Amino acid sequence: MTTSNRLRIAIQKSGRLSKDSQQLLKSCGIKFNVNEQRLIAHADNMPIDLLRVRDDDIPGLVMDGVVDLGIIGENVLEEEQLERELIGKRAEVIKLRPLDFGACRLSLAVPTEFAYQDAASLEGLRIATSYPNLLRRFMQNKGISYQDCMLKGSVEVAPRAGLADGICDLVSTGATLEANGLYETEVIFRSMACLVQAPGELSPSKQALVDKIMSRVNGVVQARE
Ligand code: ATP
Ligand code: ZN
Repeated sequence: MTTSNRLRIAIQKSGRLSKDSQQLLKSCGIKFNVNEQRLIAHADNMPIDLLRVRDDDIPGLVMDGVVDLGIIGENVLEEEQLERELIGKRAEVIKLRPLDFGACRLSLAVPTEFAYQDAASLEGLRIATSYPNLLRRFMQNKGISYQDCMLKGSVEVAPRAGLADGICDLVSTGATLEANGLYETEVIFRSMACLVQAPGELSPSKQALVDKIMSRVNGVVQARE
């Protein structure tokens, strides 16, 4: 029995979105305590369960309806949508609203000594990234061919390690790029965290709860502006 009467919300277990995601839900009046060892945190005062998972798993869980809501970076959401479209798998979500945290950009960056003019400077070269689908879409739109170097981590060290000529990675301040002898040349995707809902209809009681949460999220985010 994988369906539940309790509203399931997936949030990042630990990482850049975890604190803000938990804080937002608490500000909405959802009372819960997180046990670091546990996947699920039950809310005390509402029929809500929080699922604490890797951020990369959240879009799929929402698209497949395993959870009802999710808080996720638009970068990860869009990448998963492109990936699923490629393999003909269901990729819809209902985007409820953008949130006011998790701002970052997915950018191209090259070593300091690289004479970069525009994206065409990367023609035929190898680019390391954890976002192969977003990178492909950008490069295809520009008609530029390149070689893949798929890395889930340590993308920023790939050029120095001789694995790639450039990278396509998330940037917020640019400090990591600089520390690795790279500079940002092109923003290919701007991202914020967002609140998404599984496709299809919710039961009336879950829908009423989502409406209540949404009106509170709107209030909380507005008050912080
Ligand atoms: P997980 O263990 O959950 O897979 P992760 O290492 O993939 O974690 P984090 O580094 O915690 O993920 O980043 C989560 C999200 O935070 C990113 O997908 C992005 O939306 C957002 N983010 C904001 N600023 C940055 C940044 N400077 N670098 C990376 N991600 C950022
Ligand atoms: Zn991740």
